[in-house]
Amino acid sequence: MALFKRVLFIAFAAVFPAYLAFYLTFPDCFPAFSSTPSTRPVLVIDAGHGGEDGGAISPSGVLESHLNLAIAKRADLLCGLFGAPSVMLRQQDISLHDPKANTLREKKVSDLHNRVELVMQQGNGVLLSIHQNSFPSEKYSGAQVFFAPTKGSQSLAEAMQITLRTVVEPSNSRQAAAISKSVYLLNHVSCPAILIECGFLTNPTEERKLQDSNYQTKLAAAILGCWLQYSNGQIYLDRDEGTA
Ligand SMILES: [Zn+2]
Repeated sequence: MALFKRVLFIAFAAVFPAYLAFYLTFPDCFPAFSSTPSTRPVLVIDAGHGGEDGGAISPSGVLESHLNLAIAKRADLLCGLFGAPSVMLRQQDISLHDPKANTLREKKVSDLHNRVELVMQQGNGVLLSIHQNSFPSEKYSGAQVFFAPTKGSQSLAEAMQITLRTVVEPSNSRQAAAISKSVYLLNHVSCPAILIECGFLTNPTEERKLQDSNYQTKLAAAILGCWLQYSNGQIYLDRDEGTA
């Protein structure tokens, strides 16, 4: 309940005034109030890793999977608050593998296959995968957005990178980039898909911020703000993007 109250407060303090101003200026851009709400895309929120697969671990022992879930839950709550359809692939600290998978490797493979299947079950889904970065050196920091090779992914990633810079960290000069071929999930879905590395667990300052509930809510609010624009058709695909 405390989390919900905090999310509500941040949402109204940071997001709602801007959203209301935008609505009053461009009321036709808000399908929630129009006659064709069924065409709205569904934000499929993937909290990366989970269960036995904790993902990256910070030098002080913070698990990436826990932070991913905390931010994902906040993004999902805010979607609900603003009437934007969303679904979470996992809502607990669990892996999504089949019961018959035994070894850690089998569980990881099964988990990723199941995540792809769950994303593809959403007829009108757009995938948002939430992760945390790590690096052998502690000097790197800053959120970065990666995009799948599917149509619509690059535009969303670039807009999300700009939103994160504007709302969360103006000094972050990172640019949106194509996802590595080694990232299974984003290379096996056919819908628009982005992955956000919210920050570096290996940077002590950023590690502290990422554990702060207000900072997590701020990240989620930025994500929601960009998503509302994208899902309402205010971010245009002005190039021939996407090869898949
Ligand atoms: Zn990860």
